[in-house]
Amino acid sequence: MGQRFNRNALQRRLLRWGHEFGELLYPIARKTLPYRPKMWWVPRLPIRAHRRRTPHTRPWTAPVPSPAPALRTGPGIELLPERQQEAFDEAPLHDFIRLHPEMRGVHSPTGHMWISLLSTSPRVQGAARRRARSNRSPGATAPVAALTPAELTRAMKREAARLGLSGVGVTAYDIKWNYAEYHGMAVGETVVVGIIEQNFDSTQMSPSLRAEKAALSAYAGLEDRMRLLAGWIRAQGYAARPEGFVGESMVIPYAVAAGLGQLGLNGQLLTPHAGSRCRIHVMSTDAPLVHDEPVDHGLEGVCNECQICVRRCPAGAIPARRKESRGVVKAKLNTKRCLPVMGKTAGCSVCMKVCPVQRFGLPAVLEEFERSGTILGKDTDDLEGFDWPLDGRHYGPGDRPRLPLEVFETPGFDFDPDRREPVGWVEPDGRPGNRPDDTDGDHAEALGY
Ligand code: SF4
Ligand code: SF4
Repeated sequence: MGQRFNRNALQRRLLRWGHEFGELLYPIARKTLPYRPKMWWVPRLPIRAHRRRTPHTRPWTAPVPSPAPALRTGPGIELLPERQQEAFDEAPLHDFIRLHPEMRGVHSPTGHMWISLLSTSPRVQGAARRRARSNRSPGATAPVAALTPAELTRAMKREAARLGLSGVGVTAYDIKWNYAEYHGMAVGETVVVGIIEQNFDSTQMSPSLRAEKAALSAYAGLEDRMRLLAGWIRAQGYAARPEGFVGESMVIPYAVAAGLGQLGLNGQLLTPHAGSRCRIHVMSTDAPLVHDEPVDHGLEGVCNECQICVRRCPAGAIPARRKESRGVVKAKLNTKRCLPVMGKTAGCSVCMKVCPVQRFGLPAVLEEFERSGTILGKDTDDLEGFDWPLDGRHYGPGDRPRLPLEVFETPGFDFDPDRREPVGWVEPDGRPGNRPDDTDGDHAEALGY
């Protein structure tokens, strides 16, 4: 079943001490980290020098077998179009940080991500600045190339693979997935979805700073590659405008519509090759690219049989069943329980770590299901076990941490998951304030990410 990733007793103690150290320094971090967005100029070591967080920059090419009939559900996310339109007309989606300024980056009162944010900031900030600069002129830079839509699409996908994107897909722009703050910024009716695969080994060490750094590095690498791909599209005679790290849209529905994966019970995109161990960015374009179709890879069927993340989530935040919300049928996470735990444990991501599709890939999971009717790795410590930074203990199958009430009731953490309208911007010290200018869509820097 592959290499084991669980720590020994000493490593677990170090994990716990690291957590306490972060807690101790957090008051200082709150005061000093507003300067972190300026770190884009700090010289960086080549990414290869950080092997433990380097994303995998090779395109997914391995074929994915068809699922057994028992695992088929249907392509795409199940939508109730009328209900979805009604919800959009009543209250369009808003930028998460506009809606919940109390969650702003490291200043969140639950924030425990600051150490990983600090060390990855030069790279993340540098990528965000380069993209924002290139987005100031999103238009074509050359006459229209003499290519048919099919040829252009093939050439674009070849270029994406050359740049090191793991997956790329094309679908239609849908304003209902776009946050209200960014309506009108798309440069065309087509969306290109780009995916990069996060470092495998580091992800198996979730929850940890190491895993969180791998996630942030993947975002930076993806942002750079999407900017370069946008440059290539502009050179073919079309406009292209990639979104940034913090996002202007809900990217998962676009990725599902482009056939790159399906929506998992853990609320993440499950790709056949890497499950949810990947990061997604999108860009709008007016290039006449051929749209991909959503695909039923059997992933929703695997979720129905698996349910490991539902049982293993330390916060009990993942429901076992999907239901309709705003016209979309999905397992709606209990964010009020998940977010404080994420904040306290450097991103948590237990739900990603314990997912068999993330760990073994869909072909192996399908093969095992065909052979034995069971989910590969289920009930094994190798897959389901994780080390918990809050107490330094290892939790195997059937056992999970008891979270004290103060994790969910951190002073100053007043998160309202039902909020539909943005509230005033809040400065790090809690005073109301003005949000910095983000008219070029580059608000990652302003948010302190
Ligand atoms: S752990 Fe299982 S139920 Fe959860 S997302 Fe992965 S496959 Fe689906
Ligand atoms: S990130 Fe952690 S707390 Fe949140 S849903 Fe996943 S496992 Fe649960």
